[in-house]
Amino acid sequence: MNARYAVFGQPIAHSLSPRIHALFGAQLGIAIDYRALEASRDDFPRALAAFAADGGRGANITLPLKEDAAALCADSSPRARACGSVNTLVRVGAAWFGDSTDGIGWLRDLRERHGFDPRNRRILLLGAGGAARAVAFALVAAEAAQVIVANRTPERAQALASALGARACVSAWNDVSVEGVDLLVNATAAGHGGTAFDPPFGRVSSSLFCYDLSYGKAAAPFLAWARAAGAAHVSDGLGMLVEQAAESFAIWHGPRPQTETVYRALRAPLESASP
Ligand code: NAP
Repeated sequence: MNARYAVFGQPIAHSLSPRIHALFGAQLGIAIDYRALEASRDDFPRALAAFAADGGRGANITLPLKEDAAALCADSSPRARACGSVNTLVRVGAAWFGDSTDGIGWLRDLRERHGFDPRNRRILLLGAGGAARAVAFALVAAEAAQVIVANRTPERAQALASALGARACVSAWNDVSVEGVDLLVNATAAGHGGTAFDPPFGRVSSSLFCYDLSYGKAAAPFLAWARAAGAAHVSDGLGMLVEQAAESFAIWHGPRPQTETVYRALRAPLESASP
């Protein structure tokens, strides 16, 4: 039976992951059977079991299934346990092993593509969901001076800050400030609703790096706000998407592919689609 790979989520038709993994495979001469498979939260356990029975050896997991995936793993990596979500599944024997490559992929994009080292820097993190948690733990591991967490639901911000330890603190969602902050990260899913990004702060220092984890239309409100507010350096999460995929690819197949040509191939159509 041929080894199969997939990304599970809902919706999933928009996913760039099959294209990314096909490009990685072509680059390294590895034949890849990687598909986008849609599953609701209710249907996911059955769909994942059917995938395994049909030769499934690895899967990426995206919204809204990352926490469900964590619960279906027999074992998981320390970084996946820390952030409580799984974006990469590996079939080991008759069970799934869970990992999270979001944090390390994001850090790689931040450092290598954008030249931003979070060590000793102050970061304001908006959001406390699975991606925010992965990013937050990566920031603490990278020795950020402080991670300020603000989330619409304050209890989740508090829980994340407590789990992060002494380098983290919480800010109230409606009273958050970018004073003294070097990097602003939007890790909320708000942009998927298409509404304008409307924070309680106005203009920002041109040196504030503004990064949205989402990409395409979902990133547009935050990026438009950041540019209008005076930030000189803004980014969406396309680089993170490619880097976390490269980490998953290496877990499944061994070598880590080069990412820059794949990133450029995906960036070009996004640029021409933006208004
Ligand atoms: P998630 O676990 O569902 O968390 C969603 C977060 O967004 C929560 O903090 C939630 O706040 C907040 N939120 C949702 N709607 C909001 C609104 N209208 N106003 C304010 N806050 C709102 O999702 P996730 O997996 O962390 O994903 C978060 C974002 O990261 C998504 O845009 C996703 O596309 C992106 N992402 C990108 C990559 C990549 O590779 N580039 C990887 C992973 C995720 P509450 O706690 O109050 O509900």
